[in-house]
Amino acid sequence: MKTYLSEIFSSVQGEGPHVGERHLFVRFCGCHRACRFCDTVGERTNTVLIEKVPGSGQFEQVPNPLSVEQLMGIIRELNEKKTNRRISLTGGAPLLQAQYLQKLLPPLCGDGHSIYLETAGDMPMQLKSIIEWIDIVAMDVKLSSVTKEKNTFPAHWQFLKTCRDWDVDVFTKLVLSAETDEAELIQAVEGIKKAGGEDTLIVIQPMTKAVKTKAVPAGEQLLRWQEMAGRLMPNVRIIPQTHKMLEML
Ligand code: SF4
Repeated sequence: MKTYLSEIFSSVQGEGPHVGERHLFVRFCGCHRACRFCDTVGERTNTVLIEKVPGSGQFEQVPNPLSVEQLMGIIRELNEKKTNRRISLTGGAPLLQAQYLQKLLPPLCGDGHSIYLETAGDMPMQLKSIIEWIDIVAMDVKLSSVTKEKNTFPAHWQFLKTCRDWDVDVFTKLVLSAETDEAELIQAVEGIKKAGGEDTLIVIQPMTKAVKTKAVPAGEQLLRWQEMAGRLMPNVRIIPQTHKMLEML
């Protein structure tokens, strides 16, 4: 079995409560969504870019697609010195490759890696098929007023409930732009509370300027939204994409 990857590199986790941890990022090609603020290449690429020296900006190109054995070999080489605290599966949408992950995750976990899944948080069936190997889930809850796509809250609640049922470490991430609909935001917070419980962390991630939108939220908006969400849930944090400040991958 083979899959298409876009990049493999070691860097700091720039988002959410694990910010600053060193992760080895494995970025899968392809996504089923089209968020307005998306900053990743969605299409399959002919080659996967591998940064062998972290932060160097020098990439080796390996032809796509990659077998599980090939990817395991690359990960073992890049993490030979055990520099990375976790393996971050990111995208695109890694859960689109759930069958591949079912083959990849047992040997990856067998090597003692902690697995961090970054996901749109809307594919509960695919999550269920691999959840036994996942340590941390960073799940998005997408607001249609921000993504400009249709609302997918029911899938998010099923997804979050699955994480809770399996007792997986999960936090929710809401990317908010200046165009955020406040009624939709409250609906999202209420849904998180119901599906995940009051102790679920909500990270408000201010949208970073993107190619298709410049609607970055103002500080005043962010603080108001944190207060609004904070009336319903105790743990609401504002954490921007810190790796972008440092112009890191
Ligand atoms: S889910 Fe993530 S990768 Fe997919 S379009 Fe949205 S931001 Fe981009």
